[in-house]
Amino acid sequence: MNKGKLFVISGPSGSGKSTVICRLLKELDKAYFSISATTREPREGERDGVDYHFMKKEEFEKLVEADQLLEYAQFVGNYYGTPAAPVDEKLNAGYDVILDIETQGAEQILSKRPDAVSVFIFPPSFAVLEQRLRMRGTDSEDKIIGRLAQARVECKKAEMYNYIIINDRIETACNEVMAIITAEKCRTAERLHHLKEEN
Ligand code: 5GP
Repeated sequence: MNKGKLFVISGPSGSGKSTVICRLLKELDKAYFSISATTREPREGERDGVDYHFMKKEEFEKLVEADQLLEYAQFVGNYYGTPAAPVDEKLNAGYDVILDIETQGAEQILSKRPDAVSVFIFPPSFAVLEQRLRMRGTDSEDKIIGRLAQARVECKKAEMYNYIIINDRIETACNEVMAIITAEKCRTAERLHHLKEEN
């Protein structure tokens, strides 16, 4: 059996990243969404162990000390990190693993796992991004300002990714990310087991 592939998806809050990932999870045969650890407070409707593993700073720091995170970063005043064990278990079991992480974490993954495929999702403009964040109504004014400033910093790092999607229309953006994943899974290196079995 082939190992799964690791996909890193980044983009500022409001870029449509979560919608794209939701669609991927529905359409891919064997895909696993990595549930991050975070010290941020849950938003309304978010569930512990489903959206994130919500925890106190001390608990997060213990994971860091025990080297149990594949990457971690501080983002707008909170810690976020990817638990390493489930990622490797799922990759070994043939699942494609999707990481929804910001750019500092992505940088760590890309240097540790050079075979990971990275995609950056751009909002159509900063004005649209601001509008989306305000309409979402989940963050205070302070947080919105912080997220917009962070979005500008993140968009400057888009060049380190393998692919860039500009999310003018969510349907097109989802199709483009599906096309990337499909093509990556058809790479010759991914099909060598088939060649060996057939020859
Ligand atoms: P939010 O608070 O909106 O859920 O997430 C804020 C940012 O943190 C998003 O850009 C999201 O991609 C990123 N993020 C979520 N989980 C992780 C993680 O495990 N590691 C890193 N580095 N960033 C994460």
